[in-house]
Amino acid sequence: YAEWLILSTWWIGDNWSSLMQSVGASEKVFRLMDLLPSKQLSSKGLKLEKLGGRIQYADVSFSYPSRPTVPILGRLNLTLNPNEVVAIVGLSGSGKSTIVNLLLRLYEPTNGQILVDGVPLTELDIRWFRERIGFVGQEPRLFRMDISSNIKYGCPREVSHEEVVWAAKQAYAHDFIMSLPGGYNTIVDDALLSGGQKQRVAIARALLRHPSILLLDEATSALDAESEHYVKSVITKVSRDSRTKRSVVIIAHRLSTIQTADRIIVMENGNIVEDGKHSELIEKNGLYSRLARRQNDNLE
Ligand code: ATP
Repeated sequence: YAEWLILSTWWIGDNWSSLMQSVGASEKVFRLMDLLPSKQLSSKGLKLEKLGGRIQYADVSFSYPSRPTVPILGRLNLTLNPNEVVAIVGLSGSGKSTIVNLLLRLYEPTNGQILVDGVPLTELDIRWFRERIGFVGQEPRLFRMDISSNIKYGCPREVSHEEVVWAAKQAYAHDFIMSLPGGYNTIVDDALLSGGQKQRVAIARALLRHPSILLLDEATSALDAESEHYVKSVITKVSRDSRTKRSVVIIAHRLSTIQTADRIIVMENGNIVEDGKHSELIEKNGLYSRLARRQNDNLE
């Protein structure tokens, strides 16, 4: 999870002491230092007028540097279109997170390239690019400060209380925040919020930045049914409301949350084996339909 940790906190910059106060921070934090070759990521490169959100993986192959002989992705070709809601599914280890790691340039493809609005990702100013991506990891990091500051955290501009409330409402977090003793001024500690509530605060944090692309790594651990419902509603709201429309990429572990996605990409051993809408993939009777049946069996 080291990658996800830095993604949830990359805007901290050099402020490691603040990072270390993060609720639940562990020694894993230090592994992050290996990940980002900072020289390579200095703010040089292109800043586009606007991030449209067309992402193309062109013949992308990849092995992790620590295991260069183990191919993880083999000549992956995938295009994500602006404003599309795309879910990536597949068994554990099939390469879902790796696809996202490469998009964020936590690693570079071994072969092939990623294009963003037609421009090679390597030519873009990486800070500029990442600022336009809202990332919500599996285990969102909240900090020992009030809820409002947690939502504002990392936002590159000054934001008003009204905007914070707007983001919280978008993320279905406003009502539970208002029911806390101090409302938005309640200090977050480990025991204050459920997993689902933390995730909604993290979604509010991501939405406050008005990202062009929202990346969601759904929690693997079962959320309660209510939280699952909210996550599903957020995805629908964010993707259907014309004022907030943006690309959404969700790594989904529970297929119930992504049935309405525009496209579902099914991964197996580093390859895309199916790509289509829920109903199409069910009809196809392949891996997706087997995964869906298996989850239903487990639920019953
Ligand atoms: P999950 O559903 O469990 O999150 P995933 O589909 O997201 O799995 P990835 O995390 O992309 O799968 O992993 C794909 C493969 O790459 C796995 O075999 C995994 O062990 C390996 N892998 C992942 N991260 C690293 C890393 N930092 N170094 C070496 N190998 C890694």
